[in-house]
Amino acid sequence: MNIKVLLDESEIPREWYNLAADLPTPMQPPLGPDGKPVSPDMLGKVFPMNIIEQEVSSDRWIKIPEEILGILYKWRPTPLHRAVALEKALGTPARIYYKNESVSPPGSHKPNTAVAQAWYNKQFGIKRITTETGAGQWGSALAFSCALLGLDCKVYMVRISFDQKPFRRLMMETWGAKCVASPSTETNAGRKILEEDPDTPGSLGIAISEAIEAAVTDETGQTRYSLGSVLNHVMLHQTIIGLEVKKQLAKINEKKVDVVIGCAGGGSNFAGLAFPFVADKIVGANIEVIPTEPSSCPTMTRGPYSYDFGDTIGMTPLLPMHTLGHTFVPPPIHAGGLRYHGIAPLISQAVIEGLLSPRAVHQIECYEAAVLFARTEGIIPAPETSHAIAAAIQEAQKAKEEGKEKVILFNFSGHGLMDLTGYEKYFAGKLQDYPLPEELMNKSLAAIKNLPKPKAVKSGRW
Ligand SMILES: *Cc1c(COP(=O)(O)O)cnc(C)c1O
Repeated sequence: MNIKVLLDESEIPREWYNLAADLPTPMQPPLGPDGKPVSPDMLGKVFPMNIIEQEVSSDRWIKIPEEILGILYKWRPTPLHRAVALEKALGTPARIYYKNESVSPPGSHKPNTAVAQAWYNKQFGIKRITTETGAGQWGSALAFSCALLGLDCKVYMVRISFDQKPFRRLMMETWGAKCVASPSTETNAGRKILEEDPDTPGSLGIAISEAIEAAVTDETGQTRYSLGSVLNHVMLHQTIIGLEVKKQLAKINEKKVDVVIGCAGGGSNFAGLAFPFVADKIVGANIEVIPTEPSSCPTMTRGPYSYDFGDTIGMTPLLPMHTLGHTFVPPPIHAGGLRYHGIAPLISQAVIEGLLSPRAVHQIECYEAAVLFARTEGIIPAPETSHAIAAAIQEAQKAKEEGKEKVILFNFSGHGLMDLTGYEKYFAGKLQDYPLPEELMNKSLAAIKNLPKPKAVKSGRW
């Protein structure tokens, strides 16, 4: 028996899968400030047109340009592992598989879309890309991709992380990106906030505002902005993950997956693994598909479906999604990449259809799962990834109780070698769980009370 399944470079998938083509109910459009659907032209100053075309596409398959594959080969196809040591430790009859996205040079799934976005920007004649980053995972993935493609990269990094987490910033600088603490004195948005509160720790919302402003105000017209999750084209680029897994399972004659799991912040690594399996479910396969989120930031499990802004300040179009409200400030859990108030609209629509079964997990259970994983399988998981591992362990234990030989698949979205301070706090007994109090949630939901409500349309098939 193989404990890992590898694909040859020649076996890499050559098309991305677009779930929008197969969802029984069409996606509702993003809205502009006037409450009317935004036109592709309105987004043209923010994103290059070739990416906007992908964003609105309803084609089922979209060809991956050879030059993008040429870069992805640096680490793709990624291994699929059978977690035999973890299975043994749990004494479960289930077979547990994980897709190892931690082997990319920046250490997560994020470069799958960062490389594609940088390439499309370059094709469109763009010379410089701006973005924001919280803990630095997305910023480092984009910096890496821009370095390989010869583009300038400017990253607005949330001040508190800039000061407290120098290693991801140093990775970005090593790849040649310019990284400034946000709020910065370089943009109107940043200057205004610094005037009001010179000692602010910053926030992702402020950093997004600065990065968009920097892109749209470049008079040469050669700068665009890039987002690492949530949007349709990002989900699309990540589907190479699940498409590879299907080929890998076929190689070892594993015919049916029972449970598919991924952690979800904005939703991209989950969607990347799960959407090709959701396609099977739409045509009748019996698969349980579980996006997992922190109990402290329970977007899908407790948030209403509403139109809401993607950022805190309200610069983005209104997106139809499950949300805790754009002013929601998540508790300071260590899975920084999962502290997001909304979720990808494609995932929301699949939740409404009943195709997905979202689950919330507490932080301490996640660290327990991560440590068990590290001590059996060997790789130290990112705090975000630990949410998928915790759910996989729950499913493996359920299979044990039921005496069923289930096949459980999860996405190992990234390693935690840059996030060891969270482990230090866990070992010192200093971590706590933060179940979100109803009052706190209602407070941030009050801010979106007057925003338009999308219709929650479902076919009733699931
Ligand atoms: C950013 C990140 C996530 C969360 O983002 P998604 O878009 O929900 O995938 C999860 N895991 C890792 C390792 C990350 O870096």
